[in-house]
Amino acid sequence: MEYCKRCCYPANSRPTIIFDDQGVCSGCRLHESRPLIDWDERKKRFEDILKEYSQKSRANGNHYDLIIPVSGGKDSHFQVYTIKQMGYNPLLVTYNHGFNTKRGIRNLTNMLHQFGFDMLRFTSSPEAAKTISKFMLQTVGDITWHYHAGIMTFPIKAAVMNKIPLILWGEHGFSELLGMYNQDDMMEFSKKDRQEHSMRGFEPDDILNHPNNTEVLQEHLAPFYYPSDEEIEDIGVRGIYLANYVEWDARAHTRLMIEKYNFETALKRERTHHLYEKLDDIHADGAHDYLKYLKFGYGRATDDASNDIRHGRMTREEGIKIVSQYDHVRPSDLDIWLKFVGMTEEEFLGEIEHLRDPKIWEKDDSGEWQVKDSIANHVGDEDVDAVRLPLVDDREMLRSHNQPSYSRDDHIVEDSEYIWF
Ligand SMILES: [Zn+2]
Repeated sequence: MEYCKRCCYPANSRPTIIFDDQGVCSGCRLHESRPLIDWDERKKRFEDILKEYSQKSRANGNHYDLIIPVSGGKDSHFQVYTIKQMGYNPLLVTYNHGFNTKRGIRNLTNMLHQFGFDMLRFTSSPEAAKTISKFMLQTVGDITWHYHAGIMTFPIKAAVMNKIPLILWGEHGFSELLGMYNQDDMMEFSKKDRQEHSMRGFEPDDILNHPNNTEVLQEHLAPFYYPSDEEIEDIGVRGIYLANYVEWDARAHTRLMIEKYNFETALKRERTHHLYEKLDDIHADGAHDYLKYLKFGYGRATDDASNDIRHGRMTREEGIKIVSQYDHVRPSDLDIWLKFVGMTEEEFLGEIEHLRDPKIWEKDDSGEWQVKDSIANHVGDEDVDAVRLPLVDDREMLRSHNQPSYSRDDHIVEDSEYIWF
């Protein structure tokens, strides 16, 4: 397997990654291009968009300027904070996937108290989540389709319903990690991008009419039907990413939210050293991410270590140690999901046999799956030094102001149950 010479990403990263002739990945190159951007000019563009769309929204007779889709996490806090600073009144919209952690509920509540805006929340039925989750595991190896479909559909429904044309998203995740879009592309939200990446190519009817579907009913899929083109055009719905307009540094944003707005990170994580992401649901950091490892041989620690390397907070060698420590770990919340859908671990592993990427997985003589390669075998790859980034001063993970962002201990989680509401 080829691995980026600068960070920890493998050549089979999903959905797509490219390596240049120096062996550096598209995500690293995107990150490198950021300081070249005129952020003052971007901010001005952002102000102009907000002004224009606020007027459109008010002209439709309501009292909100825009919609912000939120989960209550650090990005939500930062989006809401930014808009509050600019003097606008957003309608916060959240899709409740149902697998809430106590800390997630706590942070969502905190966000409402800190910034004082209204929020609209939609909750799926547990039965819908169960049937969809099982079907998508069997089909594409994803147990959280309903999260992503809900998060990417309900805010657009809310925009149409309330006649608020502008939706402000945080970052485009795949751009940030893998450099899928150039910083100058000014990528905006689209139904197609939502379907291809967040929903694995499946619209609700694709699930309903799939030959292997036996349990998912149309009423289970009701929340995930996208508004019609006419409805979208009628309101002029537009979704923009804040990360295209302000310099995006998740750890710096998180620190600000901790220090000034009482945001809380996790105490410990099982599959990564970062404590500040994916806090709101019981599976995203665990079973959902573990599936990525079982399919493609890497997981969230690769994402998070690569991010730290790109910011100069970690050497590639330190990143590789983190990846080796976490990426293969079986998360305890897998048991919660198995109990929820009524499946054994053997059945779970059996369902994804056909999804194991042969570029990285092979069966040994006893029939056990083994990885063929790992970043740990590529510490001393040729030319790693040639593309190495300088380290920043503020890089120590345990320096007191950085401590809330990183793990101090391993392999213990706080939440062993979820709250559906
Ligand atoms: Zn890279």
